[in-house]
Amino acid sequence: MPRYEYRCRTCGDTFELSRPMAESSAPADCPAGHDDTVKLLSTVAVGGSASAPAPAPQSGGGGCCGGGCCG
Ligand SMILES: [Zn+2]
Repeated sequence: MPRYEYRCRTCGDTFELSRPMAESSAPADCPAGHDDTVKLLSTVAVGGSASAPAPAPQSGGGGCCGGGCCG
């Protein structure tokens, strides 16, 4: 069952619900009982992402000038 994320506009809390797709747009009460909620766009990437961001440079040397290749 897909999970959907909602945000309560009364208390600002975000929460997730597992519900059928047919009910994805149905009103959802926040855990505190408020009913003024909005459905957030799902950011769940099923299957993983193909393009990962470039890895951060390693600290502690290993760069070009640190390896002596720059003269
Ligand atoms: Zn609330």
